[in-house]
Amino acid sequence: MWPFNIRRVRRQEEAKDYLCRLNTAFMSVRVRFAPSPTGPLHIGGVRTALYNYLFAKHHGGTFLLRIEDTDQGRFVPGAEDYILEALKWCGIEPTEGVGYGGKFGPYRQSERKAMYAQYAEQLVVSGNAYYAFDSEEVVTAKRKEAEAQGQVWQYDATTRMDMTNSLTMSDDESQKRIAEGNWTIRFKIPENDVVVFTDEIRGEIQIQTRVLDDKVLMKSDGMPTYHLANIVDDHLMEITHVIRGEEWLPSAPLHVLLYRAFGWTAPKFAHLPLILKPTGNGKLSKRDGDAGGFPVFPIEWNDPSTGATSSGYRESGYLPAAVINMLLMLGWNPGTEQEIFTEAEMVALFSLDRVIKSGARFNPDKTKWYNEHYLRSKSPEELTHELQLVLKAGGISVSDTFATGVCKLMLERVTFVKDMAEATYFFAAPARYDEKVVNKRWKEESAAQMSALSEMLVGLTDFSESTIDSAFHAFLEEKAFSAGAIMPVFRLLVTGLGGGPSMFAICELLGKEEVVKRIEKGIATL
Ligand code: GLU
Repeated sequence: MWPFNIRRVRRQEEAKDYLCRLNTAFMSVRVRFAPSPTGPLHIGGVRTALYNYLFAKHHGGTFLLRIEDTDQGRFVPGAEDYILEALKWCGIEPTEGVGYGGKFGPYRQSERKAMYAQYAEQLVVSGNAYYAFDSEEVVTAKRKEAEAQGQVWQYDATTRMDMTNSLTMSDDESQKRIAEGNWTIRFKIPENDVVVFTDEIRGEIQIQTRVLDDKVLMKSDGMPTYHLANIVDDHLMEITHVIRGEEWLPSAPLHVLLYRAFGWTAPKFAHLPLILKPTGNGKLSKRDGDAGGFPVFPIEWNDPSTGATSSGYRESGYLPAAVINMLLMLGWNPGTEQEIFTEAEMVALFSLDRVIKSGARFNPDKTKWYNEHYLRSKSPEELTHELQLVLKAGGISVSDTFATGVCKLMLERVTFVKDMAEATYFFAAPARYDEKVVNKRWKEESAAQMSALSEMLVGLTDFSESTIDSAFHAFLEEKAFSAGAIMPVFRLLVTGLGGGPSMFAICELLGKEEVVKRIEKGIATL
C-alpha cells in the first residue's frame, strides 16, 4: 500500500514545486532605488540605481524611486531634485515613484508618516517590540561607561532587562510614560537565534542574533526610523529584490528578522560591492575626486549650506553613455572581453550572479577612455551645438559650419568636446609660436621658403583640402624642397604648434586669406 502513497505524495510535492516555480516566473520583478535626500548622489548611488534599472528591464519588471526622508535632521534642500535630475541625465529613469506616480504612492516616506505607527504597534502587540523610555543621555552614558572599561555596551537581550522599558515596568506605568511622550519603540532581537538568509551575490549568510542590538523602530514624534519604514514600504510596494550597496549588509539580518516578525515574505537581497579609491585602499570619497581631478557626482552639486560647488560628470564634459558604461563594469563583468555595451546589450546581459563580491577599484582614466569612445561614435554635426556652447562661453563666435569643421578635424584627438576649443588656432592667429619647434625648425632659408609658399597659395583659385594638397606637392617638386623641411614650418606659422590634424584640412577650414595672412605674420615675427 505505502509505495502508492509515496508516489502520490511525490506527485503532490512536484505539483507544489511546479506551482511555486510558475509563480516566481510570472511574478513580475519590482525593484526600487531608495536614496535619502541628504546631499548629492555619489556615483556609487548611481551604480545602485543602474543595476536596479537593468535588473528590472532584463526581467520586464518595474524600477521605482522612493525617497527615504524620515531622518529630518539630515534633510538637505535641493537633494531630491538633484537625484531626479541626475537619474534623468544618466538615462536611468524609473517608471514609478517620486516624480513618476504609480498606484503604490505616495513614494516619499515623509508623506507616508501616519502609516508606520500601526506597524510598530503591531510588533509590540505580537511581542516582537517594546517601548523604551531611557533617554539618549542614559543610553550614551551606558555606552561610554563600557567603553572606558574596554567593553561594548548595546541595548540587547543581555541588557534590556536592566533598562527602563515596557518589559521591565508595569503596564500602568508604561501606559503613563507612553502618554507623556519621550519614548521609542525598539525591536526585540530574539535571543540565541541564528539568522540565515541568501544574498544573491554573496550566497548564504549566517548571523548569530546575540551580536545584534535592539534597534529603534519608531520615536515618539511619530517618525519611523530607516529600518521600519524601509521594510514596511518594501512590503507594501511589493518589492521582490532589494539591490543596494554593501554598506547596508549589516542591516540585512535585522531586516530579515523584521519580515519574520511581521509574518511577511522577505524580498531577495543583493548587496553590491563597495567602490574603492583608485589606489584600492578604502572607499572612494569626494576627497579622492578632488585630489585626482575627477568628479564623484553625476552632475554638479551646489551645497546650500556652504555654497561650495562640487564638480559633476555632466559639467566636466562626459557623455552619459560613457558614465553608465563605466559604472556597469565597476562591479559587474560579462564573462567575456567585451567592454562597450549598448543599452540593449546591458539589459540583455545583466544578471546579479555576475556581480563581483570584492570591492571594485575606481579607475578615472577608464571613464575618459569610455568618453573618447562614445564621443567618436557621434557625428561632427551632433557635436556642433555643444562646441558652440563652449565657444560662446569663451567669447568666441563662429558659424555653425565652421564649428562643425572643427569637430570633424578634432573628434579623433580629444577626450571632451571642450578640448576642441583649446585648439585656439582655429579661432585666432597664433599669438605665440612653440619655442621648441621654432628652435628646431626655423632656419635661415625658412623665411624665403615660406614667402614662396604663400605666393603659391595666393595663386590657387580653389582652396579645398585636395587642391591644396596636390598644389603643395607640386610646389615641393618644382622648388626641390623636402616635405620634412617645409611642412613643420608651414604648420608652425599657421597654428603656432608642432602637431595637429591635417594641415591641408586646417587650411581649407581657415580659408585662403587667413592662411596667407598668418604666413606673412609668421615671417615678420620670426
Ligand atoms: N535610504 C537608504 C539609502 O539612503 C536605502 C537603503 C536601502 O536601499 O535599503 O541608501
